[in-house]
Amino acid sequence: MNVLDNLNRVRRQIAATALRAGRDPARVKLVAVTKTVPVEIIRQVLVPGLDGLGENRAQELLSKYRELPPDVEWHFIGHLQTNKVKKIIDKVSLIHSLDRWSLALEISRVACEMGLTARVLVQVNASGDKTKSGLRLQEVEEFVAEASCLPGLEICGLMTIAPWTENPEEVRPVFRQVKELSLRLRHKLKAGMDYLSMGMSGDFEVALEEGANILRIGTAIFGRRY
Ligand SMILES: *Cc1c(COP(=O)(O)O)cnc(C)c1O
Repeated sequence: MNVLDNLNRVRRQIAATALRAGRDPARVKLVAVTKTVPVEIIRQVLVPGLDGLGENRAQELLSKYRELPPDVEWHFIGHLQTNKVKKIIDKVSLIHSLDRWSLALEISRVACEMGLTARVLVQVNASGDKTKSGLRLQEVEEFVAEASCLPGLEICGLMTIAPWTENPEEVRPVFRQVKELSLRLRHKLKAGMDYLSMGMSGDFEVALEEGANILRIGTAIFGRRY
């Protein structure tokens, strides 16, 4: 399997879908999700046009961070334990998974201590799936309003993981609800809602049609996980 061929195929699919939806493909970020993928394989996709690498575990991100070139843009996409915040906060360009108030407080505290501003997305559990983290749709507005006041933390948008399904059409309403929520928040709170991180290997075309501008794609590039 040639992972660079896979990456290029995914990029062509993204470009075609974006154009069909009247969107500029250049404004869609592709984050390659590298969890469980060895660094020798990851190196093969470090080409222009890839916007970043996504990891869902702090330890794995840190070890890959040390081995891969310093210009890699890292995205943290998994459940983040508060005691790991200080280890990753200065290494990642965006944390996609702000899902609770205690984490917002810890990110703010550590960012202020280190003199930086952490960019974060609020994770929304739009389907109400009990096995997933993230705020319920109706909780997000108040959370964003309050978290926006914390120093050292910049809310840049929303992230969601749709339930797994054979037919991605089934999760279109999930993506649409999160997009509508982000528009509402931008309007009401004047909150920074530049990014909408949604869409994975099985559903990225539908997510893109519904307004995603960061796609997190693993399997379609690297194959089944190791
Ligand atoms: C693993 C993972 C992905 C990528 O999933 P694929 O189906 O392999 O593309 C995207 N987002 C999150 C949060 C993940 O944990």
